[in-house]
Amino acid sequence: MTVYTTTSLKAELNDRGWRLTPQRETILHIFQDLPQGEHLSAEDLHHRLEQDGEGISLSTIYRTLKLMARMGILRELELGEGHKHYEINQPYPHHHHHLICVRCNSTIEFKNDSILKIGAKTAQKEGFHLLDCQMTIHAICPQCQRSLVPV
Ligand SMILES: [Zn+2]
Ligand SMILES: [Zn+2]
Repeated sequence: MTVYTTTSLKAELNDRGWRLTPQRETILHIFQDLPQGEHLSAEDLHHRLEQDGEGISLSTIYRTLKLMARMGILRELELGEGHKHYEINQPYPHHHHHLICVRCNSTIEFKNDSILKIGAKTAQKEGFHLLDCQMTIHAICPQCQRSLVPV
């Protein structure tokens, strides 16, 4: 479910004095079109752009992803694969959370109002402007539990 539309996101970016260049727009579109539950690393994105015939260098991609994450447009995720993954962020209260298997990296997304309420309350109490609220749970999935070799 994507709550941001290109128009609403563009308006928000303009409000913050950030220009949506064609390159940035291309990158945004890829994230907006991602199926629910899919996350991209900088390398994944680079590969995809190359397939689409878009010559955007890896260093530009790194920079753009960092910038978009800092602005709260993308979420930077530690999904335990040794590099960061990204997905589109959504305005409050549409944030979801991740349950991750530390063995096979399979990821389940879930929503939880209590977590969001705690996040919103905590930020508000300290006078912070909330951009994102995410919980990451590291665990071992049922399949990996079955295949665990006993020590
Ligand atoms: Zn996610
Ligand atoms: Zn697993």
